[in-house]
Parts: sequence; C-alpha cells; structure tokens
Amino acid sequence: MSLAALSKSKINLYLKVLKRRPDRYHEIETVFLPLDTPADRIVLDFETRPGIRVSSTVPGLPENLENLAGRAALAYSDMAKISACWTIRIEKEIPVAAGMGGGSSNAAAVLRLLNDHYRALPEKTLAELALTLGADVPFFLHGRPAVATGVGEVFRYLEGRLFAPPLLIVNPHFPVSAKWAYTHLAPEQIGPDDSGKLERLIDALRRNDPAGVAANLHNDLAYALYEKFPLLAILRDFLRENGALNAEITGSGPSLFAVCATPEERDELALSLSGAFRSVTVFTN
Ligand code: ATP
Repeated sequence: MSLAALSKSKINLYLKVLKRRPDRYHEIETVFLPLDTPADRIVLDFETRPGIRVSSTVPGLPENLENLAGRAALAYSDMAKISACWTIRIEKEIPVAAGMGGGSSNAAAVLRLLNDHYRALPEKTLAELALTLGADVPFFLHGRPAVATGVGEVFRYLEGRLFAPPLLIVNPHFPVSAKWAYTHLAPEQIGPDDSGKLERLIDALRRNDPAGVAANLHNDLAYALYEKFPLLAILRDFLRENGALNAEITGSGPSLFAVCATPEERDELALSLSGAFRSVTVFTN
C-alpha cells in the first residue's frame, strides 16, 4: 500500500529575534506564510520488510535515518510503539538549506501521513514530537498562516480571510545553514520590536493591501546575510528597482521573496530577473 502527501514550503514575512536562550535556541516572533510553490511530494510505502528507508530525488541529500523525514518516522514508531516497515521517497522541489523549511516540512508530512493512517497519537503528543525534530516542524503539521512565538512552536493562527500578496521567490544556488545565520546575528538586534510593524503587517494581510505588507517586512537575520553574501543585496536591490514593492530574505536565507502589487507585475519581474541572473531559481505564488 502507498500513501502520498504534499509537503509545502514557507516564507517568514516577519522575523524578530527576542532573546538568546542558554540552550542555543532563540526566542522569536515570526509570521509564517505557507506556500504551495515550491512543494515536495512525499510517498510512503508500507512494506513487509522491517525498517525505515528514505531516499530522495536530490543527489547528496541525507538518506534513511540521517534524513529528517527518516528521523520523524523513527520518532513516530518509538512514541506510538508501532513497528516500522516503511519506505519513504521524497520528490524534492523545495531548495535545500534555503530558509524555506524543506526538511521540517518533510518531517511534518511524514508525521501527518503516519498518524492519519495509524491514529495512534493525540494532536498534542504529535506537536510535542514535532518540536523534538526541529523548531519549524510544528508549524508544518498544520501549515496555516500564523504568528509564532517561543522557538516558533506557539501559534496564533491568522483566522478569517487573509490575502497573501502576489509573491516571487528567488533562490540563489548556494546553501546557508540556520546555525550560521543565528550565530552571526548582531547582539544589538536582539530584543522586542515596539514599532508596531507586526500588527500593521497582519492588518495589511487582512485588508488585501500588498503595499501595506511590503512596508512592514522584517528579518533580523538578514543583516549578516547581506554582509556575508553581497549577491543577496544585489538581488534585493534588483527586485526593488524592477517592479517589486519590497523584497526581503526569508528565514535564515539565502532565498529572497518579493512582494508585488499585481500578478502581472510579478510575472514581468520574474521574466526580467531570469534574464539578468542565470544561476537563480524563481517561483511564483
Ligand atoms: P533550516 O532552517 O532547518 O536550516 P532550511 O529550510 O533552511 O531549514 P532545509 O532544506 O530543511 O533547510 O535543510 C537543512 C539541512 O537539513 C540540510 O543541510 C540538509 O542536508 C538536511 N536535511 C535532512 N533531511 C532533509 C530533508 N528531508 N530535506 C531537506 N534537507 C534535509
């Protein structure tokens, strides 16, 4: 028997680091927006042979229990006391180590697939299990727009009608680890934000106001990334100068997203970007 699920990506429209914790984690306040493009596809096969096997379409991506999807399957099997006979195949579209949550999303998709099938764990336990795998994993269990606090696991879901603006996502073809981005965060950036940006951003999402969204983007991790990788500042400026209302890095980078006024302007921007930069991948939402 075989089951399949989509494993979405995300961007952070807003990311404020509030506090460094003694355990190397950080307390943050972030706005997560799930994206349908890019998304991976996870295929789970139930076998008679015991074990957990994980492979993907990306050469060099960790396999089996070194893959976050494999670790999720193992954690589920341990917690639910179910003997694992699973083969997992990841058809990858989400760029790796790109700030788009690919590994976390795959892990959550595996937990969701397994629990929809076995129904062995209550939601609360599943969320706790997700958090042991990574700070972004609980978000992907539901994959709904949310303001997250804590290390990213306490959610205020943005219920009601929400209007994501036309978006263009740009991935330059090099990886950045979240650890690098957090290690290079300037201490003076850490702390609460009393500018009101977060609430203005949420208001703009509710009012279908792309300009309001664009004016209130924020990412504390971006400064160090622009300094270390000048290409990112070049890309951001290109996006801003060629039709985007604004552009920013998502999460720990290096992918950027541009907020546009209309889908037509976004599509034009995608064309000019692809013409000017050969070694980037562009997604539109
Ligand atoms: P993070 O913030 O955790 O770094 P990210 O979205 O920037 O998230 P991922 O694509 O999740 O980055 O990859 C982070 C690391 O996890 C990579 O170095 C990759 O080798 C490893 N990894 C393990 N399993 C997976 C998976 N299923 N998909 C992507 N990366 C994985």
